[in-house]
Amino acid sequence: MAQEAVTGPAPKQPPRPQDTEQWSPTPAVVTPGATSAAPPSDAIVLFDGRNLDQWVSTKDKSPAGWTVADGVLTVNKQAGNIETRRSFRNFQLHLEWRIPQNVIGSGQARGNSGVFLASTGPGDAGYELQILDSYNNPTYVNGQAGSLYKQHPPLVNASRRPGEWQTYDVVWTAPVFSADGKVTAPARATVLHNGVLIQNDAVLAGETLYIGKPSYRPYSAAPIKLQAHGDPSPPLSFRNIWVRELDGGAASP
Ligand code: MG
Repeated sequence: MAQEAVTGPAPKQPPRPQDTEQWSPTPAVVTPGATSAAPPSDAIVLFDGRNLDQWVSTKDKSPAGWTVADGVLTVNKQAGNIETRRSFRNFQLHLEWRIPQNVIGSGQARGNSGVFLASTGPGDAGYELQILDSYNNPTYVNGQAGSLYKQHPPLVNASRRPGEWQTYDVVWTAPVFSADGKVTAPARATVLHNGVLIQNDAVLAGETLYIGKPSYRPYSAAPIKLQAHGDPSPPLSFRNIWVRELDGGAASP
């Protein structure tokens, strides 16, 4: 005779990082053309190869402790994340980054960094546009280079090989909050990677999180942040970083 299945609520498991990983479909690979972009006349230059005057340490706002040499900014993983002195609201951002030719590791532990389009708090708080070696390096697609981390995979994979400079051009529309802190218009991002459209007015569900579902926290203007990721591969480098404020700019502290 049939036995009654024992049913009932399954014991609740704590959320895990892999719960929010998406592994397919894999973005098509596109070989980019040449790209470069000198800052236009109305840009705020955030790094021109000379110094880190525009940047501070995220954790204590002390001078940014990354390395500037030969016109290039290189991550100092011990120094942690760095962010702009100024805060921004809506903007166009250009930056160039290079995975070291001697990169090692795989998946998320291969040339991991990121640009947070709004740094809403310490550590990795905010909205991360992922930087990673995604040239023949499979990982979850919503965590590969050009993803809005764990929310939107890139439309295509326009990665260059390690050792070559790559560009991001971003249009960031900040979320809007009501006086009581509810989101009334979500954050949106359009991104070109090496001149190829990879995010087309993507709508964010909240801040980008390693674990759990994204949610919003009110902010009005925030720094732009670069990630010092703890993976063991050699550190990557940046150059030619500039921003153009939109809508008349933000109230900077
Ligand atoms: Mg990252």
